[in-house]
Amino acid sequence: MQIKFNDKTNQIIKNLALEAKRFGVKIYFVGGLVRDVLMGKAPLDIDILVEGNAIDFVKSIDFVGIKSIHKDFGTVKTEISGIDIDFASTRIEEYPKSGCLPHVAKIGCDIKDDLIRRDFTINAIAARILPSLDYEIIDIFNGCDDILKGVLKVLHKNSYIDDPTRILRGLDFKLRFNFIFSPEDEKLIQSYLKNPDREGLSKDRVVLTLNKLFSSNERALAAMEDFSRCGYYKILFDEFLFDREKFENAIKLFDIKDIGKVCLKYILEAPPVEIKSKSRLEIYKHFKDFSDVDLCVYYLKTNDKNTLIYHNELKNVKVYLKGSDLLNLGYKQGKIIGDILDKVLEAKLAKNTDIVSFEDEVEFVKRTFKL
Ligand code: ATP
Repeated sequence: MQIKFNDKTNQIIKNLALEAKRFGVKIYFVGGLVRDVLMGKAPLDIDILVEGNAIDFVKSIDFVGIKSIHKDFGTVKTEISGIDIDFASTRIEEYPKSGCLPHVAKIGCDIKDDLIRRDFTINAIAARILPSLDYEIIDIFNGCDDILKGVLKVLHKNSYIDDPTRILRGLDFKLRFNFIFSPEDEKLIQSYLKNPDREGLSKDRVVLTLNKLFSSNERALAAMEDFSRCGYYKILFDEFLFDREKFENAIKLFDIKDIGKVCLKYILEAPPVEIKSKSRLEIYKHFKDFSDVDLCVYYLKTNDKNTLIYHNELKNVKVYLKGSDLLNLGYKQGKIIGDILDKVLEAKLAKNTDIVSFEDEVEFVKRTFKL
């Protein structure tokens, strides 16, 4: 395999391969980088896997700038000639309970034992880095074949039980690359979803995975569609409502740019508390800290048309008068100042109000509150 890095990066990789030879370890690219290169894409982040202890290896090299070390995982973030490179030690992981974060059982294992902890065959291909800048492919799960076929396959039948967020990672790859889950994977997923174990589920990892899934505007609604239709929501809940037409409509109504953010909030946030009073002042006060995304999600969850009144008519209303202006006008310090400002706001929020400018506000105050 060939990898098209620029000359500077090639030189760094070559030097690292020479250092690995000197230190007596094998180093690899693995995961997304290898998958992307095999799919004809340019490599992005550079992560290097060390078959052994990455921390000891990195510490032995004088041209590497260490940025941080994570001892429990055997990982090191570095900077080499201005390029960020992350190093990881090969490791064995164990899942004591479905969905929880795995324990590191061993740091510095054989490459094969590291590859088996990975999600899909397409992400479990390693490319050994040689000083000649040839890359020797290690593909024990036939990931190359699955890339060609466009198929997502886990490495063992307990994989989705160990980590159900792999279903969502798979959905992301499926939509990004136009791949499909293998028939066997479809069965494994549906079998997990019949009896999902949410007790030990790592919320952090769910949020991280959903963030990745909804990071693209173009794919967000397709992801929601599958999340709902294929029952992937059962990883998190018993029930889930998604109406694509309603979403598309709401996205237009609230002029939403970040569709993924709406989807994410719609999934993760509890149903909101609805407002009882319908006065325009109450609506304004209720929604005044809401972003357009918040309003859109609230509308989708409650159908409350007050969100639209706020978005279309109230959101941009501002009172220019300050308490100090009222004191200058001769009003006395105290509760009355707040009351007057509230009345000004209420008057400005009224339909067809003619109070627009600072001068209009002053006029209104003088007319309404006699000194
Ligand atoms: P991309 O960054 O393009 O989305 P990636 O595969 O590099 O793809 P990462 O989330 O950075 O995505 O993961 C790096 C590698 O770590 C994966 O390729 C995979 O081998 C492994 N991995 C990540 N998450 C999991 C998981 N939940 N279970 C098993 N292996 C995982």
